[in-house]
Amino acid sequence: MKVLVLFSGGLDSRLAAKILEEQADVELINFILPFGQGCCNSHCSLNFSQKENIRLNIVDCTKSKLLQEYLEIIKNPKFGRGTCFNPCIDCRIFLLKKAREYAEKNKIEIIATGEVLGERPISQHSKAMKIVEEESKLTGRLLRPLSAKLLEETEAEKRGEIDRSKLLDISGRSRKRQIELAKKYNIEYPSPGGGCLLCEEEFCKKLEPLLSNKITESDIKLLKVGRNFENNNIVLGRNREENEKLEEIKKEHKNLILIEPEEPGPSAIIKNKKHLQQAQELIQKYSKKKIEKFKIR
Ligand code: SF4
Repeated sequence: MKVLVLFSGGLDSRLAAKILEEQADVELINFILPFGQGCCNSHCSLNFSQKENIRLNIVDCTKSKLLQEYLEIIKNPKFGRGTCFNPCIDCRIFLLKKAREYAEKNKIEIIATGEVLGERPISQHSKAMKIVEEESKLTGRLLRPLSAKLLEETEAEKRGEIDRSKLLDISGRSRKRQIELAKKYNIEYPSPGGGCLLCEEEFCKKLEPLLSNKITESDIKLLKVGRNFENNNIVLGRNREENEKLEEIKKEHKNLILIEPEEPGPSAIIKNKKHLQQAQELIQKYSKKKIEKFKIR
């Protein structure tokens, strides 16, 4: 019996993989999302997969068609948003639909997640979990081993392919039992929470004006760096690291214009020459010395 675990890299999904490994052939699927998803990066996920010898598939949603599909749910979430722009229920549906497609192509019968009933206010209460299951066309096929005994039996449990007695009944926000299980399985894990920029008010203020237009890969990279002006049309580095980051973005996106002062000071990226003068004035404003010359490329 093969199981595909939706793997964020956090403790819960690590435990889901370890619990199911005792009775199935487990594969992991990790999605890199454009605005982050909290738990850990793909490097950290890769470490877990190598250490535990569990196959990991990484799906990059920061580019091309998947990026545009993901942005569409941020613009028009069917099930609403959380405290900021985070469309958590739609986001889970998106991930599970993609996981289902992968599972179907690879003849994997069961999809599992590390979800815990009542752990997260928006997406992990029973009504939301049911919606996610139905909308991703996984009714009866989505196994949540950490809370399985508190949820309806899945088809695989009914058929006896998965032994329900070996699954758990964890609920709520306390992570005590998960931490005990991590000790039992001797697994390391990253600290919980944080990471999804869609939950951050300041970031969402920058993102909001862009939502009515087509958002590109470079728009998203620029939103994550430095000081933004004119709806992300002028971006200034705040330190050397961010200046270097802007240079990297310019290398990857030749259509952008990089402005570098010849004296120490912030670099800037603009998308259109009409912002050149304003960008130079802003560079001057945030520089300690008078800037005589700029390098523009
Ligand atoms: S916090 Fe919500 S929107 Fe952000 S990655 Fe998690 S489920 Fe998706």
